[in-house]
Amino acid sequence: MNPPSIIGITGKLAGVRGMKMFDLTGKVAVVTGGNSGIGLAMARGMAEAGASIVVAGRNAEKNAGAVSELNALGAKAAAREVDVTSESACAGLMDFAKSSFGRLDILVNNAGTNIRKSPQSLTLSEWTTVLDTNLTSAFVCSQAAYPHMCDAGGGKVINIGSMYSLFGAPMVVAYSASKGGIVQMTKSMAAAWAPDNIQVNAVLPGWIDTDLTRQARKDLPELNDKVLTRTPAGRWGEPDDHKGIAVFLASAASDFISGASIPVDGAFAISG
Ligand code: NDP
Repeated sequence: MNPPSIIGITGKLAGVRGMKMFDLTGKVAVVTGGNSGIGLAMARGMAEAGASIVVAGRNAEKNAGAVSELNALGAKAAAREVDVTSESACAGLMDFAKSSFGRLDILVNNAGTNIRKSPQSLTLSEWTTVLDTNLTSAFVCSQAAYPHMCDAGGGKVINIGSMYSLFGAPMVVAYSASKGGIVQMTKSMAAAWAPDNIQVNAVLPGWIDTDLTRQARKDLPELNDKVLTRTPAGRWGEPDDHKGIAVFLASAASDFISGASIPVDGAFAISG
């Protein structure tokens, strides 16, 4: 006979067996910065798993391109021009998702930026830009999404951190502060909203080939070799490396996982 704990687990998962536990059919996801790079790849992953997607970014042309791409996958998708540093725009985004697709289940706080300067030369205004874009926006968007997720009976918040959530470097004082904050904010939100059946987790990408790092590669010719040498997997990550973690953290497969920060980094973080 099975021990009682196993019977309990079997009973709980009976409705979501096998690949069904990754199924996002009927779910609605908002992805900030979903019009390019890592955010768009996460949107593609969730769209392929059945979710409807709302993409948010400042650039209308990139937004439209993302919607076309998601539609071509057979997904329902819509875009909204949003600057995530505006509290009212973030609230409007969540209302837009609800009015477009009837509910809101998943929020990916992915919009991000960096200003590379030493601590002694970064201005307060530059500091504020990075903190507002990378950290405060995630707080504001999550807060605006919360009542909609409660209405839906639960939800999933996926915050995007970085290797600079863990490490520091001379030219990333504001960026590393914002990404370190993401990890701690994730834990506190996870603790606060667990009773509401809302799971809050963070993803910490390694070095990924996107617009953000392409610029850094231009500015720093030695960066490419440094990344290849330091990353045990021996390659840059691709945006699509984030499709799996997005589906996992957005789906019933992760219903008892909250407050975690998961690297997607080719073993960068654990190698000396
Ligand atoms: P991209 O430059 O491709 O994507 C950044 C996205 O953020 C764009 O969609 C951009 O859209 C959006 N964005 C930036 N500022 C704002 C704003 N104020 N309001 C709304 N949207 C905004 O870079 P990545 O895909 O690399 O970056 C995505 C996330 O991943 C960021 O949080 C980044 O810090 C993080 N990350 C990236 C790593 C990498 O190696 N690439 C490593 C670790 C973390 P738009 O311009 O239209 O506003």
